[in-house]
Amino acid sequence: MASPKYLRRAEKKLKKRQRELSRKKKGSSNRDKARTRVARAHAQVADARRNFHHQWSHRLTSENQAVFTETLNVRGLVRTRLAKSVHDAGWAQFVQMLEYKAIRRGRSFAKVDRHFPSSQICSACGYRDGPKPLNVRIWTCPSCGTRHDRDWDAGKNVRYEGRRILAVGTTEPPTPGPGALARQRAR
Ligand SMILES: [Zn+2]
Repeated sequence: MASPKYLRRAEKKLKKRQRELSRKKKGSSNRDKARTRVARAHAQVADARRNFHHQWSHRLTSENQAVFTETLNVRGLVRTRLAKSVHDAGWAQFVQMLEYKAIRRGRSFAKVDRHFPSSQICSACGYRDGPKPLNVRIWTCPSCGTRHDRDWDAGKNVRYEGRRILAVGTTEPPTPGPGALARQRAR
């Protein structure tokens, strides 16, 4: 779901206010006023984002019987640009909303293990491909030849894994499941 117009507008306004502030002279009363406007614009962005997260999580839990989330390893992304966008987008806040709304509506809900290699598995045949750099958006499974959109494939894997977790009642992978392999690799 793309971010809605009102959120983009709030973000644009914030940038504009920040630019205005940077042009004001230090110690001037105009600078104080500009600083207040920046603070207000920040709050408006936060409100707009929360609003968007409410709408989005509401919709997802209305339209789906089961909801699965993947906890992004934000620490592992720290040195990438993605880390900033994950922080900015308030992913944690969104996942939290999704969880309580899913539970309140009696949906099946599962959180996939942080180490589950969702973007390394071919969702068509189960072949475990290696880690890929983040700029690889499309890849072809060397085993069955299926062409994958990275995110779409990862989404399917999260769904399979979520169903498995619901069925067995634990996020522990079957040995030597992909999760176990990922853990070994992480050590
Ligand atoms: Zn395959």
